Amino acid sequence: MPDGRDSSHYNVLGIGKDASLSQITAAYRTAVLKHHPDRSNAAKSSPEEFLRAQQAYEVLRNDSLRKVYDRQLDQRRVLGHIAPSDIIRREDLQQLGGDDVMTYSCRCGGSYIVDLADMQLYTEFLLPCDTCSQYVCLDTSQEEPSNG
Ligand SMILES: [Zn+2]
Repeated sequence: MPDGRDSSHYNVLGIGKDASLSQITAAYRTAVLKHHPDRSNAAKSSPEEFLRAQQAYEVLRNDSLRKVYDRQLDQRRVLGHIAPSDIIRREDLQQLGGDDVMTYSCRCGGSYIVDLADMQLYTEFLLPCDTCSQYVCLDTSQEEPSNG
């Protein structure tokens, strides 16, 4: 693992991925009590942990943010286990008439299908072929304007 530390928002709060909102809130309160910088035993407080708990809570208590985050976690897990057969760029994609969807042709004759909404969310993600078991990695991170 490149970054050694497994510190998802769920791990920070010590909860499972299926935790309910009330479990998330309870875990957050516990973390706040434990790490709050203003606590009397300041020697044991950890402002860094406190901030991380706060960030985790901000994401996980918000349903839509949590969904996006969950998908990113899934992507990250998949990326760790699957070697994409190809890396493609946005200009390699073909637009389907009128739809908010683009495709890239697989060698097997199948297609990789990209939801344009996903492209707003990620700079890099894996696409499964709709026919075979291959993946390509779509990398949109090179699209910064050259005059930055
Ligand atoms: Zn294929």
